[in-house]
Amino acid sequence: MQALNLMALLNPNIKHTMIDGALFQQEVDSKNVMAVPSIYLNGELFGQGRMTADDIVDKLDDSAAEKQADALNAKDPYDVLIVGGGPAGASAAIYAARKGIRTGIVADRFGGQVLDTMAIENFISVSETEGPKLVANLEAHVKDYEVDIMTGQLASG
Ligand SMILES: Cc1cc2nc3c(=O)[nH]c(=O)nc-3n(C[C@H](O)[C@H](O)[C@H](O)COP(=O)(O)OP(=O)(O)OC[C@H]3O[C@@H](n4cnc5c(N)ncnc54)[C@H](O)[C@@H]3O)c2cc1C
Repeated sequence: MQALNLMALLNPNIKHTMIDGALFQQEVDSKNVMAVPSIYLNGELFGQGRMTADDIVDKLDDSAAEKQADALNAKDPYDVLIVGGGPAGASAAIYAARKGIRTGIVADRFGGQVLDTMAIENFISVSETEGPKLVANLEAHVKDYEVDIMTGQLASG
């Protein structure tokens, strides 16, 4: 919703309506909504679950995958390419980059599971923090080094 709010603020041609399912149960039932948020574009299901502004723009842009593939193909190879941008991937990237190794992170989304929770309570030396805050700190720490972060990419085995 925040991503859609932002897009509507920046572009007067974009409008969106937020519906609280608890208040409009009939709407939930008629659309058979099983997960929130559920996004409908012109009446058709567009997406479900957490999506960033990047995810939404990529989904709207038919040639996004092609452009991203071209951009990835144009990059020089990495000495270390880490798959995953959660706390483990971020730590690995920091340690690798500190050694002067050309390092990249490729991840579906940066932050990993930490993004899915507000309350983080046992991260050593931090008694309590919030998921998005921890992710922002992780990203800032990784960006202290020359690490190329590539999100919105799924690696397959
Ligand atoms: C609701 C909730 C509450 C939690 N609360 C706490 C807490 O209070 N304290 C605590 O210590 N822990 C908590 N955790 C657990 C903590 O979030 C995880 O232990 C931690 O995120 C694991 O880090 P990770 O980097 O190993 O993996 P993840 O966080 O799972 O990150 C995996 C990364 O890999 C990427 N990825 C996966 N597959 C692919 C692929 N094929 N291609 C590209 N990228 C891929 C994902 O996009 C993501 O970036 C909580 C988890 C949840 C869901």
